[in-house]
Amino acid sequence: MKSYRKELTFNTPNRRDYINITPEVNATLRESGIREGLCLVNAMHITASVFINDDERGLIRDFDDWLEGLAPHEPISRYRHNGSEDNGDAHLKRQVMGREVVVAVTAGKLDFGPWEQIFYGEFDGRRAKRVLVKIIGE
Ligand code: ZN
Repeated sequence: MKSYRKELTFNTPNRRDYINITPEVNATLRESGIREGLCLVNAMHITASVFINDDERGLIRDFDDWLEGLAPHEPISRYRHNGSEDNGDAHLKRQVMGREVVVAVTAGKLDFGPWEQIFYGEFDGRRAKRVLVKIIGE
């Protein structure tokens, strides 16, 4: 069995951002040379998510509105976590949107269902943060 590991780095200009990282994950899969196996993609920070959904701009804005309704960034004082930090909302948003995805690798490609794309969800950006890609198989 082969394994391949790569860290992707993102530094978003906004506090919250949603990036389709499928091209980067595809490039990593090609580098790995693995044709059959599993591909794990996870956020390495507890204020960011990796998730799969449709790359449709309205839906992305709906996610952001929904998350902001569940855990608004402000007032910062509403979160006990925000003693010395201001990212209490980002931890909660990450928990809802998840840490990682696993995608089957079949015949050298990510074996997606219809419209599935991999997203990096950033909830406390404006600094360099990492995503781990780990691919195992043959
Ligand atoms: Zn925090």
